[in-house]
Amino acid sequence: MMPRSRRVPFIVANWKMHKTRGPAEQLARDVVRALADVRGVDVAICPPATALEVVGRALAGTPWLLGAQTMHEEAHGAFTGEISPTMLLDVGCRCVILGHSERRQWYGETDEALTRKVRSAFSHRLMPIVCVGERLIEREAGQTDVLVTQQVEAAVVGVGEQSEVPLVIAYEPVWAIGTGRTATGEEANRVAALIRWVVASRCGAAAGDAVRVLYGGSVKPDNIKEFLGQPEVDGALVGGASLDAAAFAAIVRAAERARS
Ligand code: PEP
Repeated sequence: MMPRSRRVPFIVANWKMHKTRGPAEQLARDVVRALADVRGVDVAICPPATALEVVGRALAGTPWLLGAQTMHEEAHGAFTGEISPTMLLDVGCRCVILGHSERRQWYGETDEALTRKVRSAFSHRLMPIVCVGERLIEREAGQTDVLVTQQVEAAVVGVGEQSEVPLVIAYEPVWAIGTGRTATGEEANRVAALIRWVVASRCGAAAGDAVRVLYGGSVKPDNIKEFLGQPEVDGALVGGASLDAAAFAAIVRAAERARS
């Protein structure tokens, strides 16, 4: 049997651009209720920016983390429409998703921007949840490993060996996001091992061992076991299924069982 990892499983909900404040607060309260007796799993809820405050209120007094879906790297300035790390901290965020493929695809976010944002998150003590992953055309061209390596290196360049802020990297093959298709557990494990190796070679063995690597892409209650059964996969980044409290709770409970 595979030795169990010492890393605490982490399940992250990405609500994307869904839910105005009332329904967001209701969903957060439903999630809190559904997770009432869950232990030994870290959970983050990342609602849209306008709902951060109400969702933060619903999460108050629970162990669950409030997270944002993106941020600008500067603390303040003339950047119309952007949200800064200090603003996220002010509203109670503890983590932030960075480099999501939808940010890369629709808003032209580059690896260079990712480098700046990850550095900024670390310096503001916000836990970065960095998304990496290949598009279908890149997978078919055999470029998955080169591309993922490049994205992970962009994320961790300049992050020293001594950072006290934990790092999370989500392997999200772009072709699996919101499509109902998933990578196999075996392939998710292989790429997760590659990600860990890149972090270890850039930031030291301890960082490689500590980084939590999540799988993301059409995770549902009925397929989560396949990913959590992999020794290199420490949890999941969940989009669509996180908008349903019962489905999301079932995923978190699977993580609780997998490591108990
Ligand atoms: C995501 O938003 O990162 C994601 C993985 O979405 P979905 O679970 O809907 O594929």
